[in-house]
Amino acid sequence: MAEILIVEDEFSINELIRKNLKLTGHNCVQVFDGYTAVEMLKSRTFDLIVLDIMLPGIDGYHVFNWTGGTPTIFLTAKSELSDKLKGLTMGADDYMTKPFQMLELAARVETVLRRTKKTERGFVLGDMRVDFDSCQAFVKEVPVELTPKEYRLLETLIQNRNIALSRERLLEIVWGYDFEGGTRTVDVHIQRIRQKLCLERQIKTVYKLGYRLEAAR
Ligand code: CA
Repeated sequence: MAEILIVEDEFSINELIRKNLKLTGHNCVQVFDGYTAVEMLKSRTFDLIVLDIMLPGIDGYHVFNWTGGTPTIFLTAKSELSDKLKGLTMGADDYMTKPFQMLELAARVETVLRRTKKTERGFVLGDMRVDFDSCQAFVKEVPVELTPKEYRLLETLIQNRNIALSRERLLEIVWGYDFEGGTRTVDVHIQRIRQKLCLERQIKTVYKLGYRLEAAR
């Protein structure tokens, strides 16, 4: 679990980010303007900051000066290349333009956290345990042999736990956009990891959509 500061003046977007990052196991603090963001950064530390650029008061570029090296993902409606380059040359870890897909932001948050070693090292659900460093899954501490795709699928379900993922989305994440097989591939792999990891009850089929891993929050 990471401590994440969300700096975004649009309430609905701020709230959407908070809800989604909470579902993936993170603790979020929300602020809605630049001044409050700077005050917050002076008073406590965070593992990651999601930082909007166009803010009331002080803009995100100025807030960035107060992050003290905390990993930062800029979030903004500005989509021009020069703005993107400015954010990245200032030292931001990533940059997303609005409108964005929440799943993509959640995935980028995990990537940045992993890179900065603030992410979870493992995950436990019932008798199953996953060690993210060694990419190894266990059931009752007995190692379970998973193919690379099965492991990536499991990891994706864990990173997006409690969120329904469509078969198409899972195909994109695990197999890539250029994969030519159908969504049946996802079903086959889900069946295998359900059986291998005794997750028949925890990996729910979402009617007419896809799958969701249910885990305590
Ligand atoms: Ca804004």
